[in-house]
Amino acid sequence: MRIAIIGTGYVGLVSGACFSDFGHEVTCVDKDAGKIDALERGVMPIFEPGLDSLVARNVAGRRLAFTTDLAAAVDGAEAIFIAVGTPSRRGDGHADLSYVYDAAREIAAALTGPTVIVTKSTVPVGTGDEVERIVRETVPAAQAWVVSNPEFLREGAAIEDFKHPDRIVIGAEDEQAAAAMREVYRPLYLNKAPLLITSRRTAELIKYAANAFLATKITFINEMADLCEAVGGDVQDVAQGIGLDRRIGAKFLHAGPGYGGSCFPKDTLALLKTAEDAAAPLRIVEAVVKVNDARKRAMGRKVIQALGGEARGRTVALLGLTFKPNTDDMRDAPSIAIVQALEDAGVKVRGYDPEGTEQARPLMPNVELFDDPYAAADGADAVVLVTEWDVLRALDLERIAAGMREPILVDLRNIYPPGEAEEAGLRWHGVGRPGRAG
Ligand code: NAD
Repeated sequence: MRIAIIGTGYVGLVSGACFSDFGHEVTCVDKDAGKIDALERGVMPIFEPGLDSLVARNVAGRRLAFTTDLAAAVDGAEAIFIAVGTPSRRGDGHADLSYVYDAAREIAAALTGPTVIVTKSTVPVGTGDEVERIVRETVPAAQAWVVSNPEFLREGAAIEDFKHPDRIVIGAEDEQAAAAMREVYRPLYLNKAPLLITSRRTAELIKYAANAFLATKITFINEMADLCEAVGGDVQDVAQGIGLDRRIGAKFLHAGPGYGGSCFPKDTLALLKTAEDAAAPLRIVEAVVKVNDARKRAMGRKVIQALGGEARGRTVALLGLTFKPNTDDMRDAPSIAIVQALEDAGVKVRGYDPEGTEQARPLMPNVELFDDPYAAADGADAVVLVTEWDVLRALDLERIAAGMREPILVDLRNIYPPGEAEEAGLRWHGVGRPGRAG
């Protein structure tokens, strides 16, 4: 099949590369000429494990191409995916749909033959109806069907997720559109990936419901961690004890500094706006958003407490800055709020991240960034583990402790058992766990 993907960000690029790997003929379009130029030279705009070789293989096989020319990509395409950004609209938290609607207008103006227009961006319920209206308004006789196909890939494991999805969700209003989508996903369908075909509005809701549910699960265990600290319990054992119950499941039960990233914060906010507009409040999600927002800054206070309450003039090294490992994405990373809270208290902050340094720099201009975790920790009064990158899971803790002015470790991901850290000479503070003596 000939496929055009509009928007070559995380989702567009990974989807385009994977579709071409299935054997489809894919053109990825982006407005950002620098991004397209880099991709044509084989330079990836994002860090995502395995992506460069996947792209190179399919470009060499002439199944994958990049362009800024949307009309040329749309010409003759049997499926056109919209994968542009839907950030929070400044001021009110609604999803900013201007990129989606602009793309819809541009696609409509360039349509040449029968096609499905597929919204892969995460969009509020009813957006597909508006995309359809835009297409009909631009070209009344267009033979185009508008479909919703939300994406569930995780950054850092995006290719694996795309090729082995838990499910594929398709929201289509006509059998013809559903049939075209079955064709797009045939290789996965043959591999028995569950395909859920539903109405367009329901598909749009499924994406937000999934993200809100996962955000709730994380927030639940984070509050349980606070309770464990207050009453003397171990949240890791609580998580295991409930996670072994198959009705609950073990995933997303790791207590930490609060969720961040390019999806959960903006998607939970957008869902709340939808619910408010529909006069069907989602009180659980409202609480989740509030609790999570407060938690990120509370992690700054936790570090200050570990320093004995005296923060001004002290030096703290944050290890791991991206919102999770294996990505260079810094959007809404908890590290940003922690840096802010520490700097507000007069702390001198240093940072280290294996891949996110370039993205972090403009977001934390006063933080001294290092390209080695030991150098960042050298002379610091506290080291804070914020993101559980593999290279931070096997640190030489004795070496870290030996270089520090004060050997305080705040392990916000509970990577290191307290005993191990304490034996290395560190004063350990975790999340929801007692220290060795506790
Ligand atoms: P992104 O910001 O990385 O990429 C979006 C790209 O679209 C940019 O490169 C931008 O230049 C381009 N663009 C915007 N308007 C355009 C137009 N008219 N023509 C051509 N290109 C255009 O965004 P992303 O992280 O890939 O997210 C895209 C959508 O997918 C969002 O709705 C997001 O919520 C959703 N999503 C993201 C993830 C994720 O992990 N990042 C996962 C699932 C769903």
